[in-house]
Amino acid sequence: MRVVIDRLSKTYHDRSGQSVEALRSIDLSVEEEEFLAIVGPSGCGKSTLLNIIAGLLTPTEGGVFFEGLGDGSHPPTAMVFQEFALFPWRTVLGNIEFGLEERGVPAGGRRRRAEMLVELVGLAGFEGKYPHQLSGGMRQRVGIARALAVDPAVLLMDEPFSALDAQTRQLLQVELLSIWERTRKTILYVTHNIQEAVFMADRVAVLSRRPGRLIEVVPVELKRPRHDAMLGEPAFVHTVDRIWGRIKVDAQQALLSPEGG
Ligand code: ADP
Ligand code: MG
Repeated sequence: MRVVIDRLSKTYHDRSGQSVEALRSIDLSVEEEEFLAIVGPSGCGKSTLLNIIAGLLTPTEGGVFFEGLGDGSHPPTAMVFQEFALFPWRTVLGNIEFGLEERGVPAGGRRRRAEMLVELVGLAGFEGKYPHQLSGGMRQRVGIARALAVDPAVLLMDEPFSALDAQTRQLLQVELLSIWERTRKTILYVTHNIQEAVFMADRVAVLSRRPGRLIEVVPVELKRPRHDAMLGEPAFVHTVDRIWGRIKVDAQQALLSPEGG
């Protein structure tokens, strides 16, 4: 499914009359089966953007359109959050089945699908465990399986691995790419880590400091499948440098502007 973000702006208003302009006029299309990463400094509106695409927040102006929307039996999007957001009183299988229960899928079908997803995310043998019995990396595997359970066309991921240690993060990045290759989902992957974005994505959308504006969309010319050794390739290093350069210029301009940094 293709996602078209059209002149999207968001300003928050709180009760005391204060307003915060989070996003300003974002235009961006995400292609069918694309892996698109979104990077930008903390507070620039990345989570706001994903929440609007997920339908959890309404934009102030503009909108989000899904092209090639299916028959409505599956939701267009599902989200994987940074905090694992699992139900502590449910087992691994119970967590994965949650969205299917909500959608009224019968018990037998739910269980079969959950068992298939447990295999897909590498959690076979842990079906009956509770979240507190799992490591952070395993919990986030459950988060991914739970999002995939409802078979969304687009997977939205909000800094999903940023709470994990470096080794676990590297492992899960490679595994997510393999899951993406097998399921052919469109993925929008938010991170503040430029290396992570370049390692995984087909293109990287770079947002400015708040209010988040789209500075540039950078294509990543690295072959697939991606693997750790590519972190040393010139194409990887150059792409990271190019994005970092854009973010640095944006930060310097902010320091020089009358509003200050
Ligand atoms: P990011 O995910 O890039 O760190 P967010 O989308 O969470 O950024 O937030 C963007 C800006 O909007 C921040 O300045 C944040 O403080 C502000 N913000 C987020 N949610 C709200 C809200 N509910 N009310 C007011 N301001 C908000
Ligand atoms: Mg965020």
